[in-house]
Formats: sequence, C-alpha cells, structure tokens
Amino acid sequence: MKVEQCLVLIKPDGLVKSLTGDIISKLSETQLVIVGAKIVQVTRELAEEHYQHLREEKFFDELIRYIMGEFHTKRVLALAYQGEDATAKIRKIVGATNPELAEPISIRGKYGRVTTRGVFENVVHASESPKEAERELKLWFRPDELVNTIFPTQLKKVAIEKLFWK
Ligand code: ADP
Repeated sequence: MKVEQCLVLIKPDGLVKSLTGDIISKLSETQLVIVGAKIVQVTRELAEEHYQHLREEKFFDELIRYIMGEFHTKRVLALAYQGEDATAKIRKIVGATNPELAEPISIRGKYGRVTTRGVFENVVHASESPKEAERELKLWFRPDELVNTIFPTQLKKVAIEKLFWK
C-alpha cells in the first residue's frame, strides 16, 4: 500500500444543500487525514484547467458554469486528503460519476441528480488516480497551504504584492 493524496471538492450544490458535515463525516470512515482545506471562488481559468480532459464534451460549458457556481453559490470547499490508497478509498465512498448509476448509499447516489440541462450535479469531486491527484492538488493549493505535502517543493525568492488586514 502506498501513501497518496487526493483532492476532494464539495461542489456548489453540496454547499447549497448544506451537505458539508455529512460528506466530511462519511469520508472520515476512511481514516484518512485532512492536510488542507479552503473555500474557493472558482474562476473560469481554474475550472477549465481542472476539467481540461472534458474540453470536447457537449456538456463542457454547462459543467464549467456548474463548478463556477452559476446555478447554486459561487463557492466550493477544497479538501486535501492523505493516507494509504486515498484515491480508491475516497472514490468508493463518493460513488459513480452518474448519480443515477451510483450506489444508493454513496454520496453521489444519495445526494446527486441529473439536471434537465444535462449535467450530473453530483455534489463532490474526487481525484481519480494518484497522478490526477498530484495535478489537481498543485492546481488548487500552494505548497504552504498543505500541512504536509508528498510532492517535491522548491524555495524561490520573488517580489510579490500581498494582502494584509488594515
Ligand atoms: P468524475 O467527476 O467522476 O471524475 P469526470 O471527470 O468524467 O468524472 O467528469 C467530471 C464531471 O463532469 C462529473 O463529476 C460530472 O459533474 C460531469 N459529467 C461527467 N460526465 C457527464 C455526462 N455524461 N453528462 C453530464 N455531466 C457529466
């Protein structure tokens, strides 16, 4: 068994339906550790990069609008999990992509729906493999936003503008 990391997103429908607690409780059955968490307002750029593998699909535009929160709330909760076989353990609890085909007791089976616009509103995202998890976590989190990262980092000196409280 191998230690992996996995990105979970509670999508805008999950937040609007107040499912955050349920989802995190359910995922705690895996005994994986949360090593990062933040609320994100998803830009078009981030959405398109995240779902780059679906660019050619007919539902792509609706999917981008969905993850950007146009139909629910303009927020997602991004969570980074770590532990042995993290991606497989999480994907099992999350369930199949199509909520109508997902196991009824999985998160997507319980709470997901297929909209009349043809998008699977399936409440959560979970990385499908360790390779995808690495790509996605690097897209959603900076190294210093994870309390532990298994991916190599490097220190760079940069001059940047940063926001401080007044
Ligand atoms: P997963 O989220 O299970 O990894 P994909 O990466 O293939 O699956 O799809 C990303 C998201 O796009 C899904 O979670 C779902 O919201 C939406 N989606 C995928 N396939 C379809 C489809 N055939 N019709 C409508 N929406 C879809």
